[in-house]
Amino acid sequence: MSDLFKLSIVVPCYNEEEVLPETTKELSAIVNGLIESRKISANSKIVYVDDGSKDKTWSMIDNFSKESKLVSGVKLSRNFGHQGALLAGVTRASKDSDAVITIDADLQDDVNAIPKMVDEYLDGAEVVYGVRNNRDTDTAFKRNTAEMFYKFMGFLGVHLVPDSADYRLMSQRACQVLLSYRERNLFLRGIVPLVGFKSAKVYYARKERFAGESKYPLRKMIKFAMDGITSFSIVPIKMIMGLGFFIVLISLILLIYSFIQKINGNVVDGWSSLMISIWALGGVQLISISVIGEYVGKIFSEVKQRPRFTIEKDIYTEKTQKENKR
Ligand code: UDP
Ligand code: MG
Repeated sequence: MSDLFKLSIVVPCYNEEEVLPETTKELSAIVNGLIESRKISANSKIVYVDDGSKDKTWSMIDNFSKESKLVSGVKLSRNFGHQGALLAGVTRASKDSDAVITIDADLQDDVNAIPKMVDEYLDGAEVVYGVRNNRDTDTAFKRNTAEMFYKFMGFLGVHLVPDSADYRLMSQRACQVLLSYRERNLFLRGIVPLVGFKSAKVYYARKERFAGESKYPLRKMIKFAMDGITSFSIVPIKMIMGLGFFIVLISLILLIYSFIQKINGNVVDGWSSLMISIWALGGVQLISISVIGEYVGKIFSEVKQRPRFTIEKDIYTEKTQKENKR
């Protein structure tokens, strides 16, 4: 074809029938604009990944892909979660695309940042982070917990790019490196900075979800944060030792104090101190065991080497193969 580079835009979708028509319209306009200004090649694609949706998401993707040369899709055999869906899309798209952009389906990430990402790529950046410059659309709760999370991760020595989510561009080479991280408990935004290469940032304003509800209820958010922490750091295990020393020290002080009380003839109420120490230590032990358990569980799930996603249908590959034959 031409010497222009092929761009694929990977969009994970879970029950997104309400937003897909608008998303397709906006993404197509952006991609067409880039094709017309001869920045990307005409066989560039939008790659929807249906993450086991229960609504009409897949049939919509199927229809759009029949109507438009730009649209294609991959259907997963069940719900694998946002990160699994992203990985599936990147795996397929990066086979024959020079660069891959990942973006949410709900139009919260401003599509107008895409041309800026492309410019950064053309300037030699292999990873371009989409960084949001506002958090107004989040609830105070999500804002605060997100900030705490970034701080805590920094404290654990895991360096994330603050306020960047899964909206980013990666070159084919960067995608290959990303895919060589074989962990099952995926926390992509922790892995991407480890990929290295020249990187850049593009700022954008994050908007309200175009329609529908968040597919990240609190339960999924907590699991996601826990995955982030325990997949990347063993500091929590080390903290147990510090905690142990601290408790021993406190117990020693208490021991000396009760001994002095005893010598002075003051009646020490043994029951309460006993109960307090039993309960306090019991609690500490339980927390510690659960931290270790978290890692043991992680080892368990990693050694099983289960597939990270299963593709049921792949219109993307069908379409690109047909195009290449022509
Ligand atoms: N998503 C997915 N699988 C899931 C949950 C979410 O593919 O199990 C997709 C969803 O369709 C959306 C993106 O991941 O494109 C981000 O989800 P959402 O917008 O609900 O999260 P929020 O923006 O509220 O954090
Ligand atoms: Mg969203």
